[in-house]
Amino acid sequence: MRTSGRPGPGPADPRPARCDQLAASLGERDLDGLVVSHLPNVRYLTGFTGTAGLFAFLRDGEPVFLSDFRYATQAEAEVGGVARIEIVADDPWKRLLSVLAEYPTARTLAYEAHTLTVKKAELLAANGTRLTFKPEQRLVERLRACKDPEEVRAIHSAATLAMEAFEAVLPTVRVGQREIEIAARLEFELRKRGSEWHPFPTIAASGPRSALPHATSSQRELQAGDWLLLDFGAQVDGYCADITRTVVVGRRADERQRAIYELVREAQRSARTAIRAGMTGREADALARSMIGAKGFGDAFGHSLGHGLGLEVHEEPRVSATSDEVLPVGAVVTVEPGVYLPGWGGVRLEDDVHLTSDGAVLLSDGETELREVI
Ligand code: ZN
Ligand code: ZN
Repeated sequence: MRTSGRPGPGPADPRPARCDQLAASLGERDLDGLVVSHLPNVRYLTGFTGTAGLFAFLRDGEPVFLSDFRYATQAEAEVGGVARIEIVADDPWKRLLSVLAEYPTARTLAYEAHTLTVKKAELLAANGTRLTFKPEQRLVERLRACKDPEEVRAIHSAATLAMEAFEAVLPTVRVGQREIEIAARLEFELRKRGSEWHPFPTIAASGPRSALPHATSSQRELQAGDWLLLDFGAQVDGYCADITRTVVVGRRADERQRAIYELVREAQRSARTAIRAGMTGREADALARSMIGAKGFGDAFGHSLGHGLGLEVHEEPRVSATSDEVLPVGAVVTVEPGVYLPGWGGVRLEDDVHLTSDGAVLLSDGETELREVI
């Protein structure tokens, strides 16, 4: 890849190899380039961490990065080695078109149809130049599915600090506290330990509300004997961890709670141990589902086993009964079976694993023995 005369990327810089891989997949599709507008993809290819950036990658020609005045200094520092930088005062898409028109070899380019607005796609279609734009999907996302060691290290760091934050909050949980207050304390502990942001709103769901798989934290006060389900994330160097623990509050677990918990725990542990690169999403999903189904709770586990994890908290690969795509070596995925019984409550346990060529490596602590906070 050409640079713009600035110091080149160092040997550990992952961006040139990523751009080479992108060039190869564009070549297979007879595309001259890709307009990258989805910010996690922009970050993956250029290193840019801001909130307004557009990257035009060309197979033959210097890539262009466009942003605005707010990011002039940051763009130079983060992107300087890998692209020509254009700081624009007006619409970056219009500027992009005039920049691309300067490249004699740029004729057919793709855009990210899964994230671009219809309005922008129409602007590209009616560009009035020799350029043709085609919708494409997941070109960069597929590359992102296979993590390099630095990405895995960042996810491991995020998972480690998330578990530490959980351990700091758990002993302070008491009957009478509100879900939203527990979520706030957990978010404080996450931030205090260096989490850059919350990849998703922390879920603290108690009692019957723990049966809502995507609950929001409410004003409900914890009662003795409640489940408390905590689903929380952390972010380090842009990379996310995503963890769920479910505990009993205020008294010892009763027999039914213990039975359901142990079922989920065993299903989760066996799935996170057995999951492998090379399985399809469907095969991986079946690892926990078959155990839960065999005990008669198949209908109470209505979501996928997990999802890919990286710069986004939900990304490729899909770990779902509806996916026949193969989990690639290097992927990081969550394993998070749950059993949800409306009116009674739910249990979900979620850990993060790296799918290496030698099997699954746990990135979170995997400590899921039943905890009773009394
Ligand atoms: Zn989660
Ligand atoms: Zn998750």
